[in-house]
Amino acid sequence: MIISVASGKGGTGKTTVSVALAQSLGYCNFYDFDVEAPNSDIFLKPDINHYQKVYVKYPYFIKKDGVSFKACSDFCHFNAIASINEDYIFFEELCHGCGGCILVGPEGYVREKDAEVGEISKGFKSPGIYFFMGNLKPKSMRTSNIQGDLEKMLDRNQTVIIDSPPGNSCSMVNAVKNCDYCILVTEPTPYGLSDLKISIDVLKNLNKKFGIIINRDGIGNKELEDFCRQNSYKILLKIPNDINIAKTYSKGGSLLEWEPKMKDKFLGIIDEIEKEVG
Ligand code: SF4
Repeated sequence: MIISVASGKGGTGKTTVSVALAQSLGYCNFYDFDVEAPNSDIFLKPDINHYQKVYVKYPYFIKKDGVSFKACSDFCHFNAIASINEDYIFFEELCHGCGGCILVGPEGYVREKDAEVGEISKGFKSPGIYFFMGNLKPKSMRTSNIQGDLEKMLDRNQTVIIDSPPGNSCSMVNAVKNCDYCILVTEPTPYGLSDLKISIDVLKNLNKKFGIIINRDGIGNKELEDFCRQNSYKILLKIPNDINIAKTYSKGGSLLEWEPKMKDKFLGIIDEIEKEVG
């Protein structure tokens, strides 16, 4: 079973919940798909024992008098090449590696090379958590390539927890598209509610089952709860707005370190999800 933990709004406690789920289970595979800013290792503290580089194909252009790359520039929908007479400027960070410019460019003068865009670290945390974390190289835009390599490592035969990137863009879709159930973490503020509605639309479009965890319960207003009740959306848990959670978090501690009894609550959530997913 694959459970993704997502949130439309950043900073709502998505990683906090993902880590707490994994620690409560004790035996699972944990994947950090938030490759632009992964931080689950800080809280889970796995022993990282393997690093795997992620490479993508980029074009490179061989300059020669009389050879123009205008066809490449005209073709590239991502504006990654600007061509001026026989000169050109290549914006590597805009390139999506589609290979089109190699096909339409002057034969033999546009070739492909491998470029490193990040890495995946693998590790283990006792008693039985296998840990996988994607990490995008600074300035690279190839989030989906890192996530794609992580996706190949998903093992459906295990209980899988995926810590998704915040927001509702393509990278979030990559992190939830394989899940059997998605936990949406939000906070009871107008901003939290607004982003939650967008996340729900995304999940409905993907035909995914989901439930909601309200973090920092006690701040904001009751609008979010009313919205869930009116639409019969399941609230799986409410985590109180407690300064001691923030203090534990700031020292790299998890929810379970703040309150060990939370383990039973998270195991209860897993049971509920298993029943719903069947
Ligand atoms: S590989 Fe595709 S995206 Fe990259 S520069 Fe060529 S046409 Fe543009």
